[in-house]
Amino acid sequence: MNELTEQPSISVAIPVYNEEAVMPELLRRTCAVLDEIPGGPHQIVLVDDGSSDRTWELLEKAAEKDPRLVVITLSRNFGHQTALGAALDYVSGDVTVLMDGDLQDPPEAIPVLVDAYRQGYDVVYVQRVNRKEAWWLRACYYLFYRLLTALSSIQLPLDAGDFGLMSRRVVQEIRRMPEHHRYLRGMRTWVGFRQIGVPIERAARRAGRTKYSPLRLLKLASDGIFAFSIVPLRAAAIFGATATGLSVLYAIYSLYVKFWLHAPQGFTALVLAITFLSGVNLFFLGIIGEYVGRVYEEAKGRPHYVVRKVVRQRGLGSRAATPRTEIAEVLERTGTDYDWK
Ligand code: UDP
Ligand code: MG
Repeated sequence: MNELTEQPSISVAIPVYNEEAVMPELLRRTCAVLDEIPGGPHQIVLVDDGSSDRTWELLEKAAEKDPRLVVITLSRNFGHQTALGAALDYVSGDVTVLMDGDLQDPPEAIPVLVDAYRQGYDVVYVQRVNRKEAWWLRACYYLFYRLLTALSSIQLPLDAGDFGLMSRRVVQEIRRMPEHHRYLRGMRTWVGFRQIGVPIERAARRAGRTKYSPLRLLKLASDGIFAFSIVPLRAAAIFGATATGLSVLYAIYSLYVKFWLHAPQGFTALVLAITFLSGVNLFFLGIIGEYVGRVYEEAKGRPHYVVRKVVRQRGLGSRAATPRTEIAEVLERTGTDYDWK
């Protein structure tokens, strides 16, 4: 084990959106945890995802006092996954811990994650046990993770959220991924290296309310499925082939009835066949449309987010906060090795 992995410097990356109610406790608890961990310098990168409450004001004040904080505010609300991506662009630690800002992911778990990293794992993801959400939501999560695993082209771990630790090289690989519909926990799995899950209880939200409406959750779920699976497209082909096969059989049967039995039969069957087949058609057109839409959005190649302001103190944390857009892409293209510290 080299010296770096002995006592890694830690960056905690947190996206926040209208979280003024939890902010003081979030900062207090996260800082307290980092204080106890040797090594460093540690850093907390908070991305304000266009909050409309006092979140940014609080962040800015905190960053002026504490050199460990790097706070970024986006020009509008871009969504959780994009805000997470933005935070990843600003971290500089040997390891990065991704965390939600509502204290559902307890900062006290960070030392456990770091321990696993020191045993040689590049990704330590948290598997959620004992969720505190409503039973129907838990049931949906349960089904979703199993469906995704069944459909997906890579083996995604069950019940793992974004909360977890990534080594610097995993963060670098994720930064190189250009896709807009981001499903971070999937991208993290895709990167590879040695990964391990640790079970940690998911707390209830500390204050404020969830920003994920059922509709937004559905969107996240579809990002997971459509970004990591082409099984739905294949299902279209299989369904289409089966339906065609059946209709050939039915055609033979109708010819038989027409010429040998001379009976004007089959009106009901006709109606059923037409409605069923057009239903199947529309459904799979929708699925194909979903993929085409994604190709279109990616083809536009827009930046993922727009930064309004970055606040950090010169010194400790500042070396860290070099956005990838500024220099890293040039370095990447020219193949120069760049130390993100
Ligand atoms: N969040 C964000 N942008 C959004 C929605 C949410 O940055 O558009 C943040 C939010 O502040 C929180 C984290 O993402 O820190 C997870 O959101 P939330 O707790 O609402 O999701 P849930 O835990 O209910 O799935
Ligand atoms: Mg939450």
